[in-house]
Amino acid sequence: MSYRGRFAPSPTGLLHAGSLAAAVGSWLCARHAGGRWLVRMEDIDPPREVPGSAEAILAALPAFGLVADEPVIYQSSRIAAYDAAFEQLRRDGWVFPCWCSRSELAAASGIHRDGRCVASPDPQRSPAWRIRMPDETITFVDALQGPQQQALRECVGDFVIRRVEGFYSYQLACVVDDAWQGITQVVRGSDLLDSTPRQIWLQRCLGLPTPRYLHLPLVLDSQGRKLSKSERAREVDPSDPMPSLHRALAFLGITSDETAVHPSELLEAALMQFDPHHLTQCSDHRAA
Ligand code: GLU
Repeated sequence: MSYRGRFAPSPTGLLHAGSLAAAVGSWLCARHAGGRWLVRMEDIDPPREVPGSAEAILAALPAFGLVADEPVIYQSSRIAAYDAAFEQLRRDGWVFPCWCSRSELAAASGIHRDGRCVASPDPQRSPAWRIRMPDETITFVDALQGPQQQALRECVGDFVIRRVEGFYSYQLACVVDDAWQGITQVVRGSDLLDSTPRQIWLQRCLGLPTPRYLHLPLVLDSQGRKLSKSERAREVDPSDPMPSLHRALAFLGITSDETAVHPSELLEAALMQFDPHHLTQCSDHRAA
């Protein structure tokens, strides 16, 4: 199957050094494999959304030389597909409604492991919907981080796939869309490494294929902390793209071409020397 990769930002802020590194890393891997690179806007969490950030991210990517090979997919337009996946899980007996309060969950160290709601059903309130976790350990080999494993029930428990307000979880939407877009390789930051076993489990429940995964090291700030859009981490400036692009490439272990004038020229030069195996040299994580 030919390679299909993607960059899937959430509109919770502008692009920062970490998200730019993930975008460039996924672009380089796709191009190196002669594959396609797609962009998916993960705009299904309105309370966390920062107005205007989806447009700003999508306008910034081409300024950094990153142009998607197919039209951008907005998850907000895909609710019918998530409804269908949810109905499939419900029909197959994987999900259950849950009225448990935070305090009830806190008593179980925040992890729900019963496979059923322990609170009494409350007709006045909409429930969250959780997926039952098996007593199973998911294993997979990350292309960069090596062998991984997670005991689902112990580590994550019955997780929410549809929130009280009716919003679908990132995990469900991501799995449905990776399959629908035919993604063969997911390249993203290692803050999502511990989501991958949940996603693999959902793929199994829904009968969907599992792509290969490569989790990049996280870009840290000068104090060694993870950058995050919601913390207003240092944004990259699309009106002056070269310095941030040089830093993103250096983070990915690539010595960038100082003579390049345009971002696309710089990316093409980087591609010539790119080898996914060199990603292990992302040793200096402080690219912000
Ligand atoms: N939307 C997620 C984020 O911005 C990334 C999802 C993914 O790459 O799977 O953190």
